[in-house]
Amino acid sequence: MSNVFDPRPATHAVASQTRAARATREWQQLDAAHHIHPFSDMGSLNKVGSRVITKAEGVYLWDSDGNKIIDGMAGLWCVNVGYGRKDLAEAAYQQILELPYYNTFFKTTHPPVIELSQLLAEVTPAGFEHFFYCNSGSEGNDTVLRVVHQYWASVGKPGKKYVISRKNGYHGSTIAGASLGGMGYMHEQMPSQVSHIVHINQPYWFGEGGDMTPEQFGLQRAQELEAKILELGAENVAAFIGEPFQGAGGVIFPPSTYWPEIQRICRKYDVLLCADEVIGGFGRTGEWFAHQHFGFEPDTMTLAKGLTSGYVPMGAVAINRRIADALIDGGDFNHGLTYSGHPVAAAVAVANIRVLREGGVIDQVKHATGPYFQDTLRQALDGHPLIGEIAGAGLVAGMQLTEDAKTRKRFANGGDIGLQCRDHCFRNNLIMRATGDRMLLSPPLVISKAEIDELVGKAKLCLDLTAKDLG
Ligand code: PLP
Repeated sequence: MSNVFDPRPATHAVASQTRAARATREWQQLDAAHHIHPFSDMGSLNKVGSRVITKAEGVYLWDSDGNKIIDGMAGLWCVNVGYGRKDLAEAAYQQILELPYYNTFFKTTHPPVIELSQLLAEVTPAGFEHFFYCNSGSEGNDTVLRVVHQYWASVGKPGKKYVISRKNGYHGSTIAGASLGGMGYMHEQMPSQVSHIVHINQPYWFGEGGDMTPEQFGLQRAQELEAKILELGAENVAAFIGEPFQGAGGVIFPPSTYWPEIQRICRKYDVLLCADEVIGGFGRTGEWFAHQHFGFEPDTMTLAKGLTSGYVPMGAVAINRRIADALIDGGDFNHGLTYSGHPVAAAVAVANIRVLREGGVIDQVKHATGPYFQDTLRQALDGHPLIGEIAGAGLVAGMQLTEDAKTRKRFANGGDIGLQCRDHCFRNNLIMRATGDRMLLSPPLVISKAEIDELVGKAKLCLDLTAKDLG
């Protein structure tokens, strides 16, 4: 290692100096000139300019004007261990020096990907012993499609091709991810969708449950799966995929009856059950994986985000033994990415999972900060004039803004009030996401009780300001 030049101090100092010298307006002008943002109306955004985030520590971000912002969304639901962890940075640095890249094609492997797979086999539920790697949740779900089709082909049932998912589910933004997802506005902008994917209704009781109890409604929405399987013919249906709770769709927690019934139906018709754990995985609900919170046992799990806490990109698919065995015995699996099992990402994932496990982070969410967050939120907001429902567990929550909580009447202009509330959050240095008229919180899992008090206090302030605007 002695002949390895250590360039860190010098280049870092130069980069920081150049960056510090730039004013917000200059950043914004350069950004507008050259950068197309994801999920954005660039014309409108460029008129006002983006917020420029320059550094982060723990649960806080700083912008280029020096404002300290509490991050109630852990980035995009991913920075589970919080910002600024030197152990993750060190793992990346050491791995870059040792072996920055090698692939896992052509009869080759390397220590970081082996260590990660062994560790994942330890922290995932019994039966998950095999993992396929990619770079994102979208690629993970694309991989799930491939795995599912390869599985049925290899066990002599190639006719099982349909995958059933849900309206208002989110499974990513590649063509396959967006096809699996149930976001109509994304489908509209695609040249075509992946075939053999059909959508059923979501288990969103508050918005769609009518006069039914949540339990009746959960059963009814699960039974739509059975009806769809019968309509398509069970011999043609490969899998059902769903997020244990819908994240991007608004933190929608299904009624308790939903998942057990989905599992019963999948088992009855020999349909694989695929859990998209991209948001729910790695401790969000206080369990390692969100399906454990809801009490069902999937055949595959899509992983990303919390796998590396977002420090570097990585996704994975956890494959249950039955399916893995068939894949292993099924000949060539014609799927892979240059960065499948990237050594630096794998080393960071190992360091991250060790923090979550050895550092007791997930235990803390389950036994201390998760219940504290849920209680504090409800104490602060139950009975609030704008709040119709608070859904969530552990360190994730969705709050439905309503015109009338008792009748569950939502605002007619779907989404405007949510955006108004989000503007107040911007002005008050809080990151709280708006999905339509649902306000979402999903902070880093290392948040302390004092920081939860601050987060909930700011959320309430912004909701109060929004209520005041409405008169
Ligand atoms: N699946 C779920 C449940 C997600 O929430 C997301 C992203 O938010 C994805 C898949 C896509 O992941 P990525 O953005 O890493 O492609």
